[in-house]
Amino acid sequence: MQNPKKIAVVGSGLVGTLLAIYLKKRGHTVHVYDRSPDIRKINFTGRSINLVLSDRGVKALRDVGLDEEVLGIGIPVEKRAIHTGVDTVNEQFYGKDGEVIYSLSRGLLNRKMVDLAEKAGVEFFFEEKVWDVDLTTATISIGESERGEWKTRDYDLTFGADGAFSRIRHKMQRQSMFNYSQEFLNIGYKELNIPANADGTHKLDKNSLHIWPRGNFMLMALANLDGSFTCTLFMPHDGENSFESLKTKEQLVDFFANHFPDTEAVIPNLVEDFFKNPTSYLVTMKCFPWTFSDKVALIGDACHAIVPFYGHGMNAGFEDITVLEQMMEQYGDDWANLLNDYENSRKPNADAIAELSYRNFLEMSSKTADANFLLQKKIEKWFSDKHPELWVPLYSRVTFSHQPYAEALAIGDRQNEIMQEVLKMENIVENWNSEKVENKILELLKA
Ligand SMILES: Cc1cc2nc3c(=O)[nH]c(=O)nc-3n(C[C@H](O)[C@H](O)[C@H](O)COP(=O)(O)OP(=O)(O)OC[C@H]3O[C@@H](n4cnc5c(N)ncnc54)[C@H](O)[C@@H]3O)c2cc1C
Repeated sequence: MQNPKKIAVVGSGLVGTLLAIYLKKRGHTVHVYDRSPDIRKINFTGRSINLVLSDRGVKALRDVGLDEEVLGIGIPVEKRAIHTGVDTVNEQFYGKDGEVIYSLSRGLLNRKMVDLAEKAGVEFFFEEKVWDVDLTTATISIGESERGEWKTRDYDLTFGADGAFSRIRHKMQRQSMFNYSQEFLNIGYKELNIPANADGTHKLDKNSLHIWPRGNFMLMALANLDGSFTCTLFMPHDGENSFESLKTKEQLVDFFANHFPDTEAVIPNLVEDFFKNPTSYLVTMKCFPWTFSDKVALIGDACHAIVPFYGHGMNAGFEDITVLEQMMEQYGDDWANLLNDYENSRKPNADAIAELSYRNFLEMSSKTADANFLLQKKIEKWFSDKHPELWVPLYSRVTFSHQPYAEALAIGDRQNEIMQEVLKMENIVENWNSEKVENKILELLKA
């Protein structure tokens, strides 16, 4: 057990609430501040943004006994359904039998996490915007506006779980030797909706993540519990096939008829949703250090915001908590070394999942429709089934294992080099599952 501290967590998002539960279980007094109203009191029907939870996130929930409760509001997703043309759907299973990720409504999940944290004894302060933190004392300042009057609240330790545009990080940025970078992608996204059938059933297979890959743009759909799907259209902000190029109803309807003809029957409110819903931006943010002595620490998107193409932002944030918990176990009350080890062990992995996420856009938008890529995946799966101890595919390492992201990335790069050699073999399309191919991979693995 640690000596009880008075801890502030800034941000009641997915990471802040789970962190608060962990800290409370360790006997600390935990206060969570959020600038927004209590999410349990907000009506968000009609806009059910969802995300996927995978093994790293499930582990962090399981370790505090919350996995079953959370998975109860999720839909298992076992494969990608790749819509390559009208009525042509290729299926790619994510892992081995029984390996699934979960589609969850972000709003429902956040509500549940706040409920669970409150049940665990965490105190929440909503509509309290934190403007400042004193890095040497952990004291936070709250107020209605940046230039108005601020109240201060004293703590022993403050965590910034306040997302990609973190105010706590903003304060740390003013230190010398604080490195920071922010890069916007020229790909934006917009949410659309596939409503449920009249009887409440799903219009598409609910256990698939649906993708319509079209080169530098793509459409994705993930199921919700109420029978609907949330679709996300990813495309460049400007240029050919971009948000900027779709200004009128006619342009939009033509575009969908050309590129996503099979969605016409399932997205009835395309025009209304498209012009009503905002176009959002995607950013990768990296920084270091993440902590200041034993007083202030960043966690989740506040220290590593990534693009969403691997579905790992929240999962990585949850894994930060798993690592922090290991450090609390190891270091006890030595918070300065505890936080130092936490940031040093997480930083390379946060950079690795940022890189993997960026690369996955290319994989999802163009490669999933590429014959060579599909052949590569087929060979990898076949070899991995034959030699599971020698070959775990990159996606499985990232999504169904707890191997550090940096290691998964390095091994994935090596596997890709091997596969590029294999794909050069004569008549590989016909002989992809031959002994010759097997021996070649075994030989390259030994090299
Ligand atoms: C389109 C999209 C799809 C995604 N899909 C997935 C997915 O499938 N799987 C996955 O794992 N991740 C996904 N992510 C990433 C995931 O959403 C984030 O990684 C996750 O929400 C980060 O949680 P967080 O608690 O760190 O930050 P946030 O969720 O951003 O929460 C921050 C909280 O801090 C509060 N706050 C901010 N500033 C202040 C302040 N000054 N004072 C008080 N409160 C403040 C905010 O109100 C908010 O409640 C996706 C992201 C996007 C954009």
